[in-house]
Amino acid sequence: METKTHTPVSFKRKKSGAPLVIAGPCSAESEKQMLDTARQLAKAGIDWFRAGIWKPRTRPGSFEGVGLKGLHWMNRIQQKYGLKVITEVATTAHVEACLEMKIDAVWIGARTCTNPFSVQEIASAIRGTNIPVMVKNPMNADMGLWIGALERIMAAGSNNVAAIHRGFPVANKGKYRNMPMWEIPIELKRFMPHIPVLSDPSHICGNRTWLQEVSQKAMDLNFDGLMIESHNNPTAALSDAEQQLTPKALEKLLRSLVLRQSFAGNKAVKADLNELRSHIDELDTELIYTIRQRMDLVEKIAAYKKENNIAILQEDRWAEIIEARQKSAVELGLPPELFLTIFQAVHQESIRQQTEIMNRGLYRKKSVLIPC
Ligand code: PEP
Ligand code: MN
Repeated sequence: METKTHTPVSFKRKKSGAPLVIAGPCSAESEKQMLDTARQLAKAGIDWFRAGIWKPRTRPGSFEGVGLKGLHWMNRIQQKYGLKVITEVATTAHVEACLEMKIDAVWIGARTCTNPFSVQEIASAIRGTNIPVMVKNPMNADMGLWIGALERIMAAGSNNVAAIHRGFPVANKGKYRNMPMWEIPIELKRFMPHIPVLSDPSHICGNRTWLQEVSQKAMDLNFDGLMIESHNNPTAALSDAEQQLTPKALEKLLRSLVLRQSFAGNKAVKADLNELRSHIDELDTELIYTIRQRMDLVEKIAAYKKENNIAILQEDRWAEIIEARQKSAVELGLPPELFLTIFQAVHQESIRQQTEIMNRGLYRKKSVLIPC
């Protein structure tokens, strides 16, 4: 029996280079709020309308969404303004309701993505329907969980998936509500090059101040699109009031974005880039060679320490290295934190090598004492 309910849609960046934009309120609150916001967004040329119908709240008692009636409001938005609509699902019942109400796509939220049992429940519920599914990054900075969630959806037969980067909660909050950790979506793109990746600056920022900056960064990193929360009266919003934009302010933000080419099609530009890249390749090769030489010295030091019965970790020496390397970095106009990260990695490997050399033969010697 043919159960396919949805035809494929594209979540890729448009041919013009413009991002795919998904906008709408954090939560569906009333029919008036939904239709008024959608009308203004449609006028601004937005493609997709988002709204949370069931809200995963950290603590009970705050606004938990309007439930099923919100899907009827979404149907009116589809009919009246021709927008495609998307909402968050976390259970089989949510998926079934969205399928029945012909919602155009669904997304899996960050909290749900963190739990493989929940993701599998959703994957099983969408099997055979081909409803497009977007997967937000999990709450922990674990790319494996994110990839796993995408794989579960694809294994259920869906070939219409996309990822949404919404940042990661950390203990020491900086200027953002959730740390972007851009390296994680960049790695995801390397592992799954065919999956479109969108950014959600609203949940990264948690306020309106940095939305433009984060959206621009996502464009510069060649993300396919943006999911941004927009409300007809943001300050009165029942959830995430501090981070939502009016449709007008959203339009202004989108107009301010500088869109760069994702690929240097021009021959001269390509040749210039290749020239610079070949220098980088040479320097990287030298860097690897230098690290090899450094490790040769580490092996010699380990043998010497072993002979003279000296402990591997010499705290004073390690503190001195870190201080001196960071000082040199600052003198050359480089960020000291970068060198802390680099030398921590090098030092870790150095300790691993020294431990191996120190213990070489130790276990073998012991084992011969055990009669077979
Ligand atoms: C949302 O998009 O409104 C939402 C709850 O997002 P997240 O799962 O990223 O917190
Ligand atoms: Mn929200």
